[in-house]
This record gives sequence, structure tokens and C-alpha cells, in this order.
Amino acid sequence: MGNTGCEPLHIFLFPIMAHGHIIPVIDMAKLFASRGVKVTIVTTPFNIPLISKAIEQSKTQHCNNNNNIHIKAIKFPSQEVGLPEGCEHMDSVPADLVPAFFNAIRLLQEPFEQLMYQQRPNCIVTDHFFPWSTDSAAKFGIPRLVFHGISFFSLCASELMSLHEPYKSVSSDSELFVIPHLPGEVKMTRLQVSEFFSNDAETNNFNMFIKEVKESDLRSYGVIGNSFYELEPDYADYYREVLGRKAWHIGPFSLCNREKEVKTYRGKEASIDEHECLKWLGKKEINSVVYVCFGSMDKFPDSQLREIAVGLEASGQNFIWVVRRKTKEDGDEWLPEGFEKRIEGKGLIIRGWAPQVLILEHEAIGAFVTHCGWNSTLEGVSAGVPMVTWPLSAEQFYNEKLVTHVLKIGVPVGVKKWTMFTGDGTIKWDAMVKSLKRIMVGEEAKEMRLKVKMLAQKARRAVEDGGSSSLQLDALIEELGSLPH
Ligand code: UDP
Repeated sequence: MGNTGCEPLHIFLFPIMAHGHIIPVIDMAKLFASRGVKVTIVTTPFNIPLISKAIEQSKTQHCNNNNNIHIKAIKFPSQEVGLPEGCEHMDSVPADLVPAFFNAIRLLQEPFEQLMYQQRPNCIVTDHFFPWSTDSAAKFGIPRLVFHGISFFSLCASELMSLHEPYKSVSSDSELFVIPHLPGEVKMTRLQVSEFFSNDAETNNFNMFIKEVKESDLRSYGVIGNSFYELEPDYADYYREVLGRKAWHIGPFSLCNREKEVKTYRGKEASIDEHECLKWLGKKEINSVVYVCFGSMDKFPDSQLREIAVGLEASGQNFIWVVRRKTKEDGDEWLPEGFEKRIEGKGLIIRGWAPQVLILEHEAIGAFVTHCGWNSTLEGVSAGVPMVTWPLSAEQFYNEKLVTHVLKIGVPVGVKKWTMFTGDGTIKWDAMVKSLKRIMVGEEAKEMRLKVKMLAQKARRAVEDGGSSSLQLDALIEELGSLPH
């Protein structure tokens, strides 16, 4: 029996506890809720405040449909895996305890299923890091959709890398190879692909986990993508038609946020008053400020931060630089002597967390130096801002290729090696100066700006009524509603 229309469709959304996953899932919840779907975001107790604040914020913006969004917590097994109490978010997990965090993730299956038993959702949308959830859905006879939070380009690239292992047929770590069959002749080096590909699978626990993730993906009902068709048509088609996956692209999710207050609170409280930030930007000319931010996970050493500081100053550009060092009390050894005094009026340093979407959408922003996390990349595209790409980890080197090689809306700063968010330490100040000049000045810069502005328009059209993403969302909801439950 299909959904009779009496009871709204009820979907569980369960992101892994990391900003880059929770933020887009909150937006996804708003998208489903805007279509009358009842949504329950599942999380763990310590993560409730940051989610509820974001939902409350948008409720006060007269988005009445957000009353359809609920939050439920399941216990996080900190004690069982040897994590300190309250260590329930990637942000707070010390590097040596990351394996324990992933052990805890496995143990979430039981409490998650108990919640499913109580709430009886019609469908679950779960993070790819919860491979066990395909089995959970099967137990209740409902579909599991996977949320990877990455581009179709990266989904295709990583699948083709696993299938063909082209990095095994080059003679050195820095020799280029083409990713076989991927449209667009995309070249990488072994240094740029994650260590999970390079290591011997059998000896690496994480590799085994990734295998499990992939296998569970294949058995799931399909994939929800935070992307829009016009951005990466060849890769969306390849994913569906050649790799044979069922997928819906319903993004960019972040464009569902129209109000300033909602854009300001994303992930956490901003470390700068938004009015102060906008006032600062308001004094600058159009396209004259470089925004520099490396997402929520970077672990740059002081030496790299100093190179960035020198590069920014030497470039002569206005800039906003987000540094993940909380306060002056944390120490300022990473800053060259007298730096802040010299850049007064020209540069703004935000220590901690920036209202990124609000900043990117300001007309004064002329370029974005980004680590190429997919949310940041898509936010840059949606705001029509060309990028300097500085990938660190995860699938960020693929996103760099999409931005610089395929879309031609950015230039690489020249990072050579994939690391666990520390950066490879090779980027000196003069490389920064060069890439900032390329992205801000001259004909090539103009062309890139024009291209990314056109993509930004397409992104907006995609989420409007009748746009490609909006139609996909309707089709997905209709399909889910017609399933027996
Ligand atoms: N973000 C933010 N302020 C910051 C840093 C990050 O609002 O100071 C947001 C950013 O807008 C994006 C998310 O955090 O939505 C980061 O996700 P992304 O996939 O770009 O990178 P990750 O943090 O997962 O590496």
C-alpha cells in the first residue's frame, strides 16, 4: 500500500557528528520539511544544542514548515570505547582517539534501531559512515538512502580509483596518471590520493571500514547528492548510467537559507559579530576582498600559518582570514611580528568560526582560498566566487580537479600531498602571492569570475520551482511516498 496521504511521510536523517556533515543535513531537513515531510534528525546528546539552535533560528524566520523538523538523541557510547564524556563531535576528538570514535560509531546501530522501532520512519537517510544502517533499514522493510556529502565527480572518481587502481601502475609517487574512464582526462599523482588507497588493504583497519561502506552503499536504495545537475552533468550521468547507481541531486542545500540570521548561524556561533563583519566588508569595493578559510578540520602548524600571513600581506589584497585558533590567549606565535598592526584596515582575522555563507555572498568578496571541502566548494560556486584551491585531506583533491581542471573557476595553489588535515607544508608565501594575483587580476581572472557567476545563477535556478534540483526533490518524495509501508 502506498502512502494514502493521511499520514505525512516520515524520514530519519542521521549525519555523522562533524560540521561538514551536520550542516548540510540541517539544510536537507529544511528542504524535506518545505514539502510537508516530517523529518527527525537523529544525533547524540551533546550535539543537540547546535542542531536545535539552527532549527529554532529558521523557525523564527516564519518558515512554518520547520515545525515538521524534530530532533531525537541516542546515547553515544563514550565509556564503552574509552572516549572522555562529551567527546561526541569530530571537533572535540583528539587525533589519537579517532579510531575510538569510529568504534563508537559502529555501536550506534542498536540504539538507532531502538529509535526506529519507537518512531517507525518510512525511510532513513544516513551518513555513508554508518554502513550498518542498510541492514537496519532492511530489518524494518524501509529504504535507506545514503548521504555522502560529496560531489558526483568525487563519487565517480573514487569508485573508478578503487576499481582500476591506476596509482599502482606509476613508477613514482609524483608521476601523473589518468583516472581511467572518468570523463575529462583527469590526472592525479599517488601523493594526492588518500593513504587509504596507497596502503595494503588487509593491514589497514580504516580500509576495511571503507570497503564495508562501499558494499553497504551498493545494497542501499540510492544516494542523495548535495549538488545540482548543471554543475557536473557528465559526472551525474556517469554515476547513474555507467556506474548504475540510483541518485537524486537536490542541492545546493545551503540555498534554502534566505534570511541573514539563518546564514549567520551555521554549525556554531560565529566568533565575530556579523554586523561588524558586514560593516568591514561594506567599506570595500566590489570583488576586492579575498576570503581565506580551510573548513572545520584543518590542523596547520604555526609555520604554515606564518607563510599564509606573509603571503597575504605581500599580495597587497584585502582579506578576511579565518584561523582555527580560538583567542589571543592561545598564543600568537603563528603571526609574524607586528602583522596585525600593519594590516589594519586591509585585513581582518577571525579567530575561530566565521559566518562563511554570509561572507561569501557579500559583493566585496572577489576570491575564496579554500581547502575544497565539498560544502565550502559548493558555497563558493553558489555565491559566484572564484577559488584558489588548497586541498588537505578526504576527497578534497578531487574537488580541486573539478574546480580547476573541469569547471575552470579556480587555480591551484600547488599542494602536492594528501595529509590528515595538517597540510603538506610545501606552500610558501610566494606561491600564495602568485595564485592570488592569478585569481584577482587580469583576463584569466575575469573569465573565471564570469564562469562562476553563471554557475551561481544556474545553482539558484536549480533550486527554484521547476528547477532541476527542485524537480528531483519532488520526484524523490513522490517515489518514497508510493513505496509500500
Ligand atoms: N564553516 C563556517 N565557518 C567556518 C568554517 C566552516 O560556517 O569558520 C562551514 C562552511 O560554511 C561549511 C562547513 O562549515 O558549510 C565546512 O564543510 P566543508 O565540507 O567545506 O569542510 P570540512 O569542515 O568538512 O572539512
